[in-house]
Amino acid sequence: MLNLRQLFLNHNAQTTDFPLSLEITHAQGLYLIDQDGKKYLDLISGIGVSSIGHRHPKVIEAIKNQADRYLHLMVYGEYIQTPQTLLAAKLASLLPSNLSSIYLVNSGSEAIEGAMKLAKRFTGRSEIIACNNSYHGSTHGALSIMGNETFKQAYRPLLPDIRFIEFGNITSLENISTKTAAVFIETIQGEAGIKTANKAYWKALRAKCNETGTLLVLDEIQCGIGRSGKFSAFEHYDIVPDILVLAKALGGGMPMGAFISSANIMNALKENPILGHITTFGGHPINCAAALATLEVLESENLIESVIEKGELFKSLLTHTEITTVRGQGLMLAIQLKDFEFNKSVIDECIENGLIVDWFLHCSDSMRIAPPLTISTEEIKSACAIILAAIEKISAKN
Ligand code: PMP
Repeated sequence: MLNLRQLFLNHNAQTTDFPLSLEITHAQGLYLIDQDGKKYLDLISGIGVSSIGHRHPKVIEAIKNQADRYLHLMVYGEYIQTPQTLLAAKLASLLPSNLSSIYLVNSGSEAIEGAMKLAKRFTGRSEIIACNNSYHGSTHGALSIMGNETFKQAYRPLLPDIRFIEFGNITSLENISTKTAAVFIETIQGEAGIKTANKAYWKALRAKCNETGTLLVLDEIQCGIGRSGKFSAFEHYDIVPDILVLAKALGGGMPMGAFISSANIMNALKENPILGHITTFGGHPINCAAALATLEVLESENLIESVIEKGELFKSLLTHTEITTVRGQGLMLAIQLKDFEFNKSVIDECIENGLIVDWFLHCSDSMRIAPPLTISTEEIKSACAIILAAIEKISAKN
């Protein structure tokens, strides 16, 4: 009998020749435990997912309770299912009043696809504008609006009528016109290596969209649900999108995505033709129960309140001559190092020492920090000590 690692390599489809290949047997809170009993602090939350920690007891309880009632009943949108309805109502209560109609799907990419279709239907326009270095997912539509040629050139032809602007550059907003259905933009760019834009930019973007009748679609799949220090990252900039896209942390560890707009906009999916987006498993009752529990935990444990302070603690501790800068907002941070080779060596050293960190898809010379929001001051200090020791060791070798 082959061991699990060999079976993994033989039968689980591989998309790189260098998967991390950690064999995790258990996860709890901030920690992952491997088959040898080695403990890892997950400083990236499984890429922005486990914001309330792995296997939060309230989430597990909600999953078990729902499993005792029903699993899948019917394709999305036909039956009144308690977890779906309570989750949608809860989300609406946490968002500005125009973001009241919530379409629940299975993933971030599917939510982006839904939002792209909705924007085209509502405006009757086909042009979509996105940003350089954006990441919105890996399906064909989402790939079409990815701002990185390397990852998309092999899949052409992709969607037509896609244009790119420079994130944060007010001058490039001139490209938005009455032909533009929507601007798709991450409120904080994730895979670009955590890039933010200033309030003046967001105000100008909102104004330009209003002027041209273009929908502003904010992708908060990575930066939403409290990670930036506010429930929605757009709250930092005093703007409101026409469509909001969420996923990742929303499900508390279960697959869950959502695209959200006013009822007026969402109603475009009802006519000519009806059933503008169809999903069998979207809004799965177990996942909705987990998501609802996650939102309740964020509130009952006041997790968002301390996010900014914790982010600042990381920034103040992470000082070293090899660190050019620590970018980001709240608990969505990037450590800028000199190049990929150095970064990769430091990351490997951290993992060896029980700390899971990573780089970014479009920014391989920066290290990703996105821990569960539940991380304590002591855990932040010990994580930073491991990172600094790793930097010290690798720089001494070079
Ligand atoms: N948008 C952003 C900003 C993301 O970070 C991601 C996932 N990394 C996606 C969309 C796609 O989400 P998913 O992997 O669930 O399809």
